[in-house]
Amino acid sequence: MTFSIHGLAVARGIAIGRAVLVASSRLDVAHYFIEPSQVGAEINRVRDGRDAVVGEIQRLQTSIAQMGPKEAPHELTALLDVHLMLLQDEELSNGVHHWIKDRLYNAEWALTTQLDVIARQFDEMEDEYLRERKADLEQITEKVLRAMRGVSSPLMQPLGRHGRKTSQQDLLLDDTVDVPLILVAHDLSPADMLQFKQSVFAGFITDVGGKTSHTAIVARSLDIPAVVGARLGSHLIRQDDWVVIDGDAGVVVVDPSAIILAEYGFKQRQGELQRGRLQRLLHTPAVTMDGQKIELLANIEMPDDAASALNAGAVGVGLFRSEFLFMGRHGKLPNEDEQYQAYRRAVEGMQGLPVTIRTVDVGADKPLDDTLRDDAHLNPALGLRAIRWSLADPAMFLTQLRAILRAAAHGQVHLLIPMLVHASEIRQTMALIDHARVQLDNRGVAYGAVKIGAMIEIPAAALTLKVFLKYFDFLSIGTNDLIQYTLAIDRADESVAHLYDPMHPAVLRLVANTIAASHAQGKPVTVCGEMAGDVAMTRLLLGMGLRSFSMHPAQILAVKQELLRADTAKLALWAEQVMMEDEPSTRIAKKA
Ligand code: PEP
Ligand code: MG
Repeated sequence: MTFSIHGLAVARGIAIGRAVLVASSRLDVAHYFIEPSQVGAEINRVRDGRDAVVGEIQRLQTSIAQMGPKEAPHELTALLDVHLMLLQDEELSNGVHHWIKDRLYNAEWALTTQLDVIARQFDEMEDEYLRERKADLEQITEKVLRAMRGVSSPLMQPLGRHGRKTSQQDLLLDDTVDVPLILVAHDLSPADMLQFKQSVFAGFITDVGGKTSHTAIVARSLDIPAVVGARLGSHLIRQDDWVVIDGDAGVVVVDPSAIILAEYGFKQRQGELQRGRLQRLLHTPAVTMDGQKIELLANIEMPDDAASALNAGAVGVGLFRSEFLFMGRHGKLPNEDEQYQAYRRAVEGMQGLPVTIRTVDVGADKPLDDTLRDDAHLNPALGLRAIRWSLADPAMFLTQLRAILRAAAHGQVHLLIPMLVHASEIRQTMALIDHARVQLDNRGVAYGAVKIGAMIEIPAAALTLKVFLKYFDFLSIGTNDLIQYTLAIDRADESVAHLYDPMHPAVLRLVANTIAASHAQGKPVTVCGEMAGDVAMTRLLLGMGLRSFSMHPAQILAVKQELLRADTAKLALWAEQVMMEDEPSTRIAKKA
């Protein structure tokens, strides 16, 4: 039966494929396709893992049997029996064989997929005792996975033969392995998302998350259709269901009829044609109709993203979110050399164009590690995040600063500091930057000159620009956080996502004032939040005087198309009028 789920549109386009449900806790198992010739070996890997766990349980049973009747723990005996029974259950092994043989999933993926299938059956059971056996099933699966780890295979392999984009006709005919896959999960951390850069998935759906949550931002950078905030999506969609993601509308259609499929297939092709047309603008200079030159920069998460920035025609990196180098490392932070090599790769990758490296911004919805989520504090977005985290750990911060300064010896580097608000924080930051230089001097290590900028992403900063303009060479407006903190809306919380309004007059006023104040002092200012890549905002930002935009590489050409048609002389007056409106969003639809 066809039904639809409404969430938040995150990354544009249409994806059609089969659902792969993954519990967030199991995302760190490998997901890749094997060759048909490897089927036997993968089945053996699961069997060997299972046999190892069976052997372990049987040994335990033997030692319990040797105890006297008084010491033998009855509950444990019963539990071991249940575990053995579950391990030897045919549904588990038949299912695993199916995923490996018919879908060519690797062993770990097949095992966790079948676990999800059976776990759902347990969830639906009336009998409480049986329902609770789900936890046992999860335990034994974890054990088998651990046993298999000794012979594990590479993590995540790139889109291969089986992950190719499939036409809608294929899709209707081909019911086996050769179709795109859509990842469905309750939640994904930004670090999980990053793993999917190299993955087999053609789209994804999560139950939670806001439009500018960091998970959504990474999804956008992958440029694959995605919907977040789909609430009960991961409960309503079943393993292997056909799903359509409409990433433009934020809608997921489950079990689509042939007519619906045809419609979305058409829309998908239209989107591809539209992208093809945009490619023609790649070498067109970014100049408005009235001759204003506009700087289009890229936001990146990893050094290798420099290639996609160049391919999209970016004239530099306006925001390198360095925290992604720090995530998912189980608390072991990258040392100076490792960071230096990463920053240097980005700098060299940009071939002489400037790279703005932002110092680490973890905290709030960007935990260093999934196991280190900040549940201890009631308001992590207002807590120890970004520069506050760095200043609280000067040794860690100095390590990063030295690495960035060293990378600056290889090209143009701008150093960007997130979430500053107090003059005292500014002074401490500057003192630590000086200290990092002294440390490098003392070691006789080469480093380069950097321009130093501040992110304006807290309303208090936007209202006290004088002190920022006194200390910094440039400003960069982080609208994602500026909106969150101005409107008191958690950017990662889908339940208040409808109130997260980039066009609230207060937000627009803060952005416009920051642009005007920077220009008045002759200092460069960029917008690097999601607003910069939103074509609905391009004219308004141009009207406010913005001449530098930093966004995901995938958005650059669409924004360029907008500005090529814009006349900034006319837009200035119109933008002033829009900002006077009670609800500017109603006005913005009627362009200047
Ligand atoms: C912002 O807040 O707008 C920004 C660019 O930084 P981040 O999204 O990483 O918080
Ligand atoms: Mg921010």
